Amino acid sequence: MALIVQKYGGTSVGNPERIKNVARKVAKFQAAGNQVVVVVSAMSGETNRLIALAKEVAGAPDPRELDVVVSTGEQVTIGLLCMALQDIGVKAKSYTGGQVRILTDSAHTKARILNIDEAPIKKDLDEGNVVVVAGFQGVDEHGAITTLGRGGSDTTGVALAAALKADECQIYTDVDGVYTTDPRVVPEARKLDTITFEEMLELASLGSKVLQIRSVEFAGKYKVKLRVLSSFQEEGEGTLITVEEEQNMEQPVISGIAFNRDEAKLTVLGVPDKPGIAYQILGPVADANIEVDMIIQNVSKDGTTDFSFTVARGELDKAVKVLEAVKEHIGARTIVTDRTMAKVSIVGVGMRSHAGVASQMFRTLAEEGINIQMISTSEIKISVAIEEKYLELAVRVLHKAFGLDVAA
Ligand code: ADP
Ligand code: ASP
Ligand code: MG
Repeated sequence: MALIVQKYGGTSVGNPERIKNVARKVAKFQAAGNQVVVVVSAMSGETNRLIALAKEVAGAPDPRELDVVVSTGEQVTIGLLCMALQDIGVKAKSYTGGQVRILTDSAHTKARILNIDEAPIKKDLDEGNVVVVAGFQGVDEHGAITTLGRGGSDTTGVALAAALKADECQIYTDVDGVYTTDPRVVPEARKLDTITFEEMLELASLGSKVLQIRSVEFAGKYKVKLRVLSSFQEEGEGTLITVEEEQNMEQPVISGIAFNRDEAKLTVLGVPDKPGIAYQILGPVADANIEVDMIIQNVSKDGTTDFSFTVARGELDKAVKVLEAVKEHIGARTIVTDRTMAKVSIVGVGMRSHAGVASQMFRTLAEEGINIQMISTSEIKISVAIEEKYLELAVRVLHKAFGLDVAA
């Protein structure tokens, strides 16, 4: 008998008919002789609605109370799914994160899972129940409700699979696997049968929201067999996340393209070019808890230089305030911003053994007249910051240039 953890995302439980569809799918797996634990998201749009509601009441809602509010979306779905299961004769029992005891740290709205008490779930499974757990939420050591960050139900699913030593964790969503890029932006995108953990980690961290990055980290760390599949299709193997050794020898150079629209750029103009300047600029930004992504320092002329970096668009105003406060002390001339930046990244373990990938990327963008403003690289990815209005075009031409639209 196999133990399977299945996670169904917001669209997959978006209305009563879809919840019944999930119940039928779950029932089929149980009838085939498996023990099934189900993790569900809030119905689609519900988390956004709850966040908006909180913001109407308070401009900057208290994170602890925000978690109390946004975690309710998932509580509705677990109850509804259990009812739907019982309605077709399947024994089912629901748990909120706090009831299972998914213990997290106290970092409200972005908490990390520390421990899961799997014993009660095992007992319920052994008694023939399908166990339905609310995704995205946990409880801290003080009993306060916490949430795991947007897309966090993926992480609940994988963490439960790890704790229960499940045979497989299946992430059911509204696409039938991981694609070479977001199929909503590039219709020619192809579904991948497998992708390595390393590549999936990069794609997730660079903006592909098909899996939350922490879920991929968890799966890699605890060796969880992780698969992405469609909740709307009966057949299909989806995409299996694998370790590199299992891959074919013949690697494509690039496996996928990720992008992120929410970037903004700050440039501090005319700063004295002397040791410690990067620290003087980025130190206060880090102290304000603002994550900095790409960084460029220009060559100096007349003893001064320009220093640029990108932050998430939502943090731009805060970052400007921080820099305005230290501008005089640093001796900078002025600060300019660009709110409409985007980042496009090509990812592939095959890059390690191929020269000329960067130049091919840059040439492709140049041919379309797309100006690259910043570049950052790692062993298996190259990211560029460009104007947001060129984002779709950039992703499309790169997808074609690297042959991602033709079957390997
Ligand atoms: P769920 O609600 O099921 O968690 P999400 O909306 O979080 O679903 O994630 C699925 C979406 O991720 C897809 O609808 C797709 O638009 C987007 N996506 C982005 N990049 C990719 C990719 N490389 N492969 C597949 N889907 C992707
Ligand atoms: N409902 C949460 C969100 O919308 C968690 C999830 O769906 O994974 O971010
Ligand atoms: Mg998601």
